[in-house]
Amino acid sequence: MFIIKNGAALTTCLKNSMFEGSIGFVPTMGALHEGHLSLIKKSKAQNGFTVCSIFINPTQFNNLTDFEKYPVTLEKDIDLLEQSGCDCLFLPSIHEIYPPGYQAPHYAITELEAVFEGSYRPGHFQGVCQVVHRLLNLVAPDKLYLGEKDFQQCMVIKKLIRLLNIPVVVIVCATLREADGLAMSSRNMRLSEEDRRKAPYIYQTLLQIANSFNAQSLLPSLKKELEEKGFKIDYLDVADADNLSAISETTTRKVALIAAFIGEVRLIDNIVF
Ligand code: AMP
Repeated sequence: MFIIKNGAALTTCLKNSMFEGSIGFVPTMGALHEGHLSLIKKSKAQNGFTVCSIFINPTQFNNLTDFEKYPVTLEKDIDLLEQSGCDCLFLPSIHEIYPPGYQAPHYAITELEAVFEGSYRPGHFQGVCQVVHRLLNLVAPDKLYLGEKDFQQCMVIKKLIRLLNIPVVVIVCATLREADGLAMSSRNMRLSEEDRRKAPYIYQTLLQIANSFNAQSLLPSLKKELEEKGFKIDYLDVADADNLSAISETTTRKVALIAAFIGEVRLIDNIVF
């Protein structure tokens, strides 16, 4: 696997590597787990060359502690990527992504920024757009692999790609879960033993919503139950899965979304139904 730290070297590597077919790209913030690796696997199956990036993007963190405590496991990540057969790891420095004098544009992602993650994490999706825009320019992939676990992020990135007319196909991949249903996440390793035992209630709650005839009416009691178990809920709601607006009688595809703290760790999850 090539390990490359700057854009110019990446361009040379992509030009000189003897591969046939398309380039698949999996952007990550590292602390890799099976969920990330499932994206790599899919990219490998569908492309001649797979690039994974690891970059902990400061501009998408609206909470300094969350940024400072974001897990870093680079040696292990490199091993996992080697084993998964990833062709190239792109490890840019902060200056590679945000060169001196970088002026962040404003991305017109409008209503997507006003709800759920957008309203609880001001500036978060502008930061996501900044880094993804820059990475797509540097890697210039044919296909971009994203996890449905970050449901709203997938919608934002698709919108960014439409807005800027970037020639890349987005492939959204299913959420990988632990045996007890907890969505795999780099943040899970920050959970205490007791909080880790409680964390699967998040997915169990989403399943209850997806399996009920009147999901909306269940929400208050489900929130209360989670709060009694010690969760601090930012949101637990059902929305139209196509645009995240409020559901109506005509909504066909719904998504239940949750963001909740257990201790200091904020977890998100969703289920489409
Ligand atoms: P992150 O490193 O958290 O920024 O995630 C990098 C990519 O992996 C994003 O597209 C995530 O949605 C995706 N991802 C994270 N967790 C999972 C999971 N449990 N299953 C599938 N994809 C995931």
